[in-house]
Amino acid sequence: MSTENAATFDCPDCDVRAPSTSVPYDSLGYVVCPVCGYAATPALERSSSAERSPAGD
Ligand SMILES: [Zn+2]
Repeated sequence: MSTENAATFDCPDCDVRAPSTSVPYDSLGYVVCPVCGYAATPALERSSSAERSPAGD
């Protein structure tokens, strides 16, 4: 298997898949879909847990 299967962005909105290294990020550091503009901001989850880095995988 190839080792080029790094982090991949899967857009839940338009179902596009792209390497995380080739997609744009917004000012907050969240990935933005290059196709539909969907921003993967966890706005719906107002958890009180510690901040997670978007690249913490
Ligand atoms: Zn999308």
